[in-house]
Amino acid sequence: MKKFILENAVRKNILALKPYSCARDEYKGDDAIFLDANENPFGVLNRYPDPYQSEVKRKLAQQKRVPEDRIFVGNGSDEVIDLVFRIFCNPGIDKALSFTPTYGMYKVSAAINDVDMIEIPLREDFRIDLPALIPFFDDEHLKIIFICSPNNPTGNLMNPGDVKFILNSFSGIVFVDEAYIDFAGVQSLICETDRYPNLIVAQTFSKSRALASARIGLAYSSREIIGYYNKVKAPYNVSGPNQKAALDALADETEFLSRKTAILEEKQRLRNELSGISLIKKIYHSDANFFLVEVGDADRIYSTLTDMKIVTRNRHSVIKNCIRITVGTPSENTALLEALQKMEEITV
Ligand SMILES: *Cc1c(COP(=O)(O)O)cnc(C)c1O
Repeated sequence: MKKFILENAVRKNILALKPYSCARDEYKGDDAIFLDANENPFGVLNRYPDPYQSEVKRKLAQQKRVPEDRIFVGNGSDEVIDLVFRIFCNPGIDKALSFTPTYGMYKVSAAINDVDMIEIPLREDFRIDLPALIPFFDDEHLKIIFICSPNNPTGNLMNPGDVKFILNSFSGIVFVDEAYIDFAGVQSLICETDRYPNLIVAQTFSKSRALASARIGLAYSSREIIGYYNKVKAPYNVSGPNQKAALDALADETEFLSRKTAILEEKQRLRNELSGISLIKKIYHSDANFFLVEVGDADRIYSTLTDMKIVTRNRHSVIKNCIRITVGTPSENTALLEALQKMEEITV
């Protein structure tokens, strides 16, 4: 098996890249007269934000017990995903791999970067099909393997042994997307970034932190890989108001935990009540804040719900007759359940 060597994995032009040096890189501190960045001296949002989001990272470093220089803050996971292609994949030559069905952005971002996405279907129980994967370890152009855990839209955590096997066997980047990890009740793989130099763990403030609008995505990895992230990112990639929103969210752990508990309680109730509705054929196990459910006719149920102004995600095109339902507030969930009960009466 080939060893992972970062300098061989990174694109040559990125290795050689001299990053843009912005005005705020040169003078640290906010106690000066700033005549360096051609900003307007008047106004409220008139100053460029901290290019490295130092305060957000300081707070995250304490919480997650990782050094600040092993954290990247992006403009949503979208940026975290896009940059991994830009750092490691030569357009038109290199490839990435994912286990389908999964989050759609990996493939879109690959296509934008002109990178082929190899797709290996998950097994029937939604676990990774290792025998199908192993032959691809020898493909010298395969640079990144995406593992979404808990996976969207199936909802399940991937088997930790399978993930470890891939980390040990693949000599490229293993990108583990933990967007839903806070709902899963298991430990994040962040602590493994010490042991595996090829591991990137992505998280987001969009789900459990209730901050989708602020676009805060994170990558945890080795100091070196985070260094490349910082080299290729746009200078002011996270806006000042968004950094402030992230800091405010991090300051209120009580609110975070009580909302999470509320969602997990509603998730339990939703599962119980959905299981009593005969339109719902199957509720898949979920380690996230949503359920994948199988119905008789997903297109019909989805559009009837939409007509009743209840918007779910129709996943029929990726998993036959399946709909993905996010756990909402108690009253939203009750409205969904009542709508399904009403449909059931009409159908019977
Ligand atoms: C929702 C989601 C994200 C979040 O993306 P952001 O750009 O951070 O909002 C990331 N990964 C997966 C799998 C998701 O479902």
